[in-house]
Amino acid sequence: MALDEAKALTYLEATNAGSIPSEQLQAMARAMAALPEFIHALARASGATVKALDRPANYPFAGCEAFQFLEISHVPDFDPRRDYPHARSLGAGINAFKLIDDQVRSRPTIEVRLSTPVLKLLTDADRRVIGVEVPGAEGPRRILARGGVVLACGGFEAGTEMQKRYWQMRPVLPASTLGNTGDGFRMAQALGAELSHMWHFHGTYGFRHVDDSYPFGIRTKKLPDWTPEKDQGGVPMTWILLDRGGQRFMNEYEPYLHDTGHRGMDRYDATRQRFSALPAILLFDEVGRQRYPVARSYTNDPHIAPYDWSEDNLREVELGILQRADSLEALAQQMQVPPAELNETLARWNAACASGAPDPFGRPANTRLPISTPPYYFGHVWPVVSNTQGALVHDTGQRVLDTFGQPIDGLYVAGELGSIWGFLYLSGGNLAECLISGRLAGQGAALSTDVRGNREERNGTMADADRADRPVRNDRAAA
Ligand SMILES: Cc1cc2nc3c(=O)[nH]c(=O)nc-3n(C[C@H](O)[C@H](O)[C@H](O)COP(=O)(O)OP(=O)(O)OC[C@H]3O[C@@H](n4cnc5c(N)ncnc54)[C@H](O)[C@@H]3O)c2cc1C
Repeated sequence: MALDEAKALTYLEATNAGSIPSEQLQAMARAMAALPEFIHALARASGATVKALDRPANYPFAGCEAFQFLEISHVPDFDPRRDYPHARSLGAGINAFKLIDDQVRSRPTIEVRLSTPVLKLLTDADRRVIGVEVPGAEGPRRILARGGVVLACGGFEAGTEMQKRYWQMRPVLPASTLGNTGDGFRMAQALGAELSHMWHFHGTYGFRHVDDSYPFGIRTKKLPDWTPEKDQGGVPMTWILLDRGGQRFMNEYEPYLHDTGHRGMDRYDATRQRFSALPAILLFDEVGRQRYPVARSYTNDPHIAPYDWSEDNLREVELGILQRADSLEALAQQMQVPPAELNETLARWNAACASGAPDPFGRPANTRLPISTPPYYFGHVWPVVSNTQGALVHDTGQRVLDTFGQPIDGLYVAGELGSIWGFLYLSGGNLAECLISGRLAGQGAALSTDVRGNREERNGTMADADRADRPVRNDRAAA
């Protein structure tokens, strides 16, 4: 939420770096300032408690102090283990989900259909969106909309082919969802929708399981974020990253590591026709091994158990996700990097840890630890995407715009699929945007008028569709 609309706008302008039209950012700043009222109303309806957390925005641009987190700290009679048995992350986020779920359940006219993937959008002769097509027991079924259709089907975290079309670096491993493969983009593009900042994703780096059937990237441990110029940064991080030549190449501990951690890996070496740090080598020593687990898996997929990283990092050595080397010579050989480069890299690193000299990549001194106590441990890390920020271009009423800037009649977008986080992400911004854009899109669709300005009533509703495929799973929400 925003404590001050004007200051919030200043910050959003700076972090979007011209990627998003100003009126969009103004609308977002205004809505973020009005958000507490809505959240408190949702909380009251569920008897929940809201706690304000003073956490300024991530970067020290003007206006960063204008933001605050609202956490749903308690929901009475709610036991996430009982009520959402597939959920693995039991923090405050699940309480927020519960408030929304309560709202949906309190309106019997809303029919929730899970396991009902929308295949395409339906249009009338005037190219107005009038409904969606879904699979049915005897072939595709049509569900007609009374007003408009809101696409809220997320990004392309697991859309490997789409990622290759928009991102240079590859492969990028999904952190936690397999259901988002970019359907919303394709359906809207088929009607001429314009796209924006497709390059941008919220991500970092992480390990790949040795078992190829485990589909998720395992992100490195979440260490505290830090704000450049305001504090000295984070806590000790046990590792450094090396490229394929055995040299450091980036700040391993960026201010908001789980947002921009992957960006430094996007370096293609045209002289060798390969990415110089894909995969990168994550290296730590025995002292680091004992300090904490270097990674942790986050996933709520009900069908795939998350991989539990061991407390002492040793199970991963047994599995082969990490490798151990007793000497620097053996380490260089196992890593397949030139021994002289590795020795030089570690000598420079350890000397800088001792002296506190500024790091050429900007890693703060108090996050650095020497790597000098054998045995040494290393593993390969790849970029990991938590969620994509690339979006369907829309207006301030969430109407999807075509490549000529005209609204596609009857089509709205909400949530991540319409993200306005154009360059640097605002922590917590995705969920704030879901609440804001969801309301706007819903209102727009409900009040949707046809090209002649009349409110259109359509006879067909969900009731027309095949009811045989009732909700069975909790992983694909109907758009
Ligand atoms: C590990 C992790 C931590 C995060 N932490 C935060 C945080 O702290 N704060 C924050 O603000 N954000 C956070 N995010 C981001 C945030 O969770 C997402 O941006 C947000 O959930 C997006 O919501 P959405 O409803 O737009 O899309 P989603 O939650 O992705 O939902 C889209 C749904 O559409 C379904 N779908 C896809 N295609 C179709 C189709 N053709 N037909 C029907 N359904 C379809 C998908 O299966 C999915 O269920 C985090 C994300 C991850 C992965």
